[in-house]
Amino acid sequence: MEQIYFYFNSRYCINCNSCRVSCQTNNNTGFEINRREVVVHYKGVFPDVERYSLSVACNHCENPACIKVCAKKAIIKNSNNGIVTVNEQDCIYCKRCVAACPYGTPQKDEIKKKL
Ligand code: SF4
Ligand code: SF4
Ligand code: SF4
Repeated sequence: MEQIYFYFNSRYCINCNSCRVSCQTNNNTGFEINRREVVVHYKGVFPDVERYSLSVACNHCENPACIKVCAKKAIIKNSNNGIVTVNEQDCIYCKRCVAACPYGTPQKDEIKKKL
C-alpha cells in the first residue's frame, strides 16, 4: 500500500499559524477545533536556548489506534494512499478514538456531536 506523507521542516516554520487557520477554514470546523496545531518546543539551558515550532495533525498511522476502538467502523484507512478519514455519518460520538489516539488528534465537536 502506498502511504503519502506531509513533509515538515521546522527550520522554516515561523509559528504564524496560517496552516491551522487554513485547515479550520477549509474544513469549516470553527476556531475552537484544531485538527492541525502549531506547538512550540524549547531545548537547552539559558542563555543557550533554542525555540522551534512544529505543525502537527493526524499522523495517518500505519496501524491506527483510533480505528481499532471504533465500534461503528466510522474511521477508515484508505488502502490506496494510507490516508485516515472519519465517516461523519457513521460516528455516534462515543469518543473512544479520542482516548485511544496517542497524539491527541481526534477533536471533539460538542456542537455537532461528531468527530
Ligand atoms: S508550518 Fe504553519 S505555522 Fe509554520 S510557517 Fe508554515 S503556515 Fe506558519
Ligand atoms: S487519529 Fe491518532 S491514532 Fe488515528 S491515525 Fe491519526 S494520529 Fe494515528
Ligand atoms: S467518536 Fe465516532 S469515530 Fe470516534 S470511535 Fe466513536 S464512533 Fe468511532
